Amino acid sequence: MTDVRHIAEDEAQLYLEGAIEPSEAERIDGHLAGCTACQALVASFESLSEALSGLPLADPPPDFTSAVMARIDERELARASERLIAFGVLATVCVSLVVALSLAGQAAWAPALSAVSSAGVRALQAFRITSDVLSPVVSALRVEIIVVAAVVGIPLTIALSRLATPRQGQVA
Ligand SMILES: [Zn+2]
Repeated sequence: MTDVRHIAEDEAQLYLEGAIEPSEAERIDGHLAGCTACQALVASFESLSEALSGLPLADPPPDFTSAVMARIDERELARASERLIAFGVLATVCVSLVVALSLAGQAAWAPALSAVSSAGVRALQAFRITSDVLSPVVSALRVEIIVVAAVVGIPLTIALSRLATPRQGQVA
């Protein structure tokens, strides 16, 4: 009885190269005996392989490797100089900023600094008001909050640990 599974293209190539397990080669032999479609596939790979083996091998020019290495060196040099230019621009901007601020004097940047700090103070006050309002609510709903945290947190923890486990398996 012939095997009903047809031969895949990669299987046919490995079969012709002899790079296949003996048991698999036996299965393919058995299938080929009764399947004209797979006989045609194997024959087409056989004739392709014969045609390719008749072609002369192309020799690369003698300076091929050194030319490729020279191009790689050129690109690395270009990248290094780009990084140097970017760093120079960044350093120039930083130095100009420091010089401009010190030339302008304290009068110029003190208002900006105090605006930033007063915004921080306002944010802190808003946080205190919010926590004053929230703390009675939190203490009243303590049990409910613990239950909700457990209901949401436990499945989330399990899901995250399952996500992390295959990575540990891959490393080992
Ligand atoms: Zn077949």
